[in-house]
Amino acid sequence: MLDLWWKNGLVYCLDTKTWLDGNGDGIGDLAGLASSVDYLAGLGVTCVWLMPVCPSPWRDDGYDVSDYYSVDPRLGTLGDFVSFVHAAHAAGIRVVLDLPLNHTSIEHPWFQAARESKESPFRDYYVWSDEPPPNPPPVVFPGEQESTFTYDSVAGQYYVHRYYSFMPELNTSNPLVRKELYKILGFWLALGVDGFRIDSLPFLVEEIADGGGEEASHEYLRDMRSFLGRRKGSTVLVGEANLPAPQLLPYFGKSGAEQMQVLFDFFTCAGAWTALATGSAAPLIGKLRERPEPPPICQYLTFLRHHDELSFEHVLSKSDAERVFDRFAPEENHRAYGRGIRRRLASMLDGDPARIRLALSLLLSLPGTPMLLYGDEIGLGDNLELDGRLACRTLMQWNNRENGGFSPASTLVRPAVADGSFGYRERNVGTQLKNPNSLLHWVRRAAALRRQCPEIGDGVWKILDTGDDSVLALRYRGQHDLVVAHNLSDRRVETHLPDLDGADDIFADGEYAAPKDGRLELAPHGFRWLRRPLLSTEVVA
Ligand code: MG
Repeated sequence: MLDLWWKNGLVYCLDTKTWLDGNGDGIGDLAGLASSVDYLAGLGVTCVWLMPVCPSPWRDDGYDVSDYYSVDPRLGTLGDFVSFVHAAHAAGIRVVLDLPLNHTSIEHPWFQAARESKESPFRDYYVWSDEPPPNPPPVVFPGEQESTFTYDSVAGQYYVHRYYSFMPELNTSNPLVRKELYKILGFWLALGVDGFRIDSLPFLVEEIADGGGEEASHEYLRDMRSFLGRRKGSTVLVGEANLPAPQLLPYFGKSGAEQMQVLFDFFTCAGAWTALATGSAAPLIGKLRERPEPPPICQYLTFLRHHDELSFEHVLSKSDAERVFDRFAPEENHRAYGRGIRRRLASMLDGDPARIRLALSLLLSLPGTPMLLYGDEIGLGDNLELDGRLACRTLMQWNNRENGGFSPASTLVRPAVADGSFGYRERNVGTQLKNPNSLLHWVRRAAALRRQCPEIGDGVWKILDTGDDSVLALRYRGQHDLVVAHNLSDRRVETHLPDLDGADDIFADGEYAAPKDGRLELAPHGFRWLRRPLLSTEVVA
């Protein structure tokens, strides 16, 4: 299964500028990142999802790209980028680059040329109109963004922007734009990246769908995949599409690998948080059943937190979303744009070690490939003084010295959090490395164990009937027979599961008696991973 590397492993999302400052200027950089590769390998990371590195005014944290063919000078040079990729590969870590292809910065030379003249070949790189339509598409950032059409006095027309007005939408229905985007993808492939995260996938193909219908937009993605296949067949595309089930599945393509190999799993994310909020496994079971089965070589990227605000649009009912919000984001300041939670995993769970481990054990054992947001392995907190979604993009905390070891500079790209239980004095990599009972060591052990259970990523799975509403039990069959059980409630439970006799705990939140006559005990917020050798006479089904 090595060629299907995205079916298993541990994906780790990080932002270079908040990770580690290698040159002491107060901004994390590629030199700092390259020096931390051993840390990532020690954690068990097999793939880094690198947030955007291209030159940018950073008005949207780097998602507003002003040049696709370089790295932002504050992060280093293209040479530093290649050095990092080389170091990552040497450590067995693949690199997936987050490349925002849906829009550029307003400062991009294409837009500057486009606005100057209707005759410019770049004019049609963007989407213009004399008047905004009567029913323009809704804004992505309510409260921070007024509309999706903005008048440009230089151009004398309105331009479309699904996000901020300083991020004009690229016109992907223009074949010249597609050609440019392929060239850009080819450039980064030549620098060694293993794949791309495709930001806001539905918006990327919106204009094409408008002009030629849904099928035309998928034709474009098939064409992009075909290009990547010619340049580097192993390239993986990881698509971000927060959509209802019927609209999601076509992004994999019919037979698999025609479009995206990997899609973010907003279903189990929503189900897991509802389950954690209510103490009932039922919402997660519901989402596992609702989630469409991907084609055989494709995969879901499971996550609990990513770099954005946590939002449940399209995947949770309003009342279920409210339950999660009431439980984990009770204050107005915990929320962003009227729809998302801007806190991090550890602070949502009040820093409670038992619930954090329950949540992470669940994440690592759900069908799919798990993704961690940087710092979740030490229980990194958020900084609610920062605007919007930046609250969860705090500085990594390396040790208990000044600025948490992120940088010796007096001015930092983002403020360090020194005090409180989430501050760097209390919570950092160095302190946790010295303590064998720390969350960091626990995550390292859990990730190592997950690597030994490839059946979670590519085996056959089913939901077991436990007879207890608070317990989620899943059985995986591959090379081994694996049962994972999680108790979402705060009470001790005893469930009955068939065929467990002879199974050994290979991972659990504490010491348990071996299962007998199908009886399986679980402590409050407890979890157990049990394995039984598969008898050769058993049929995998
Ligand atoms: Mg620096």
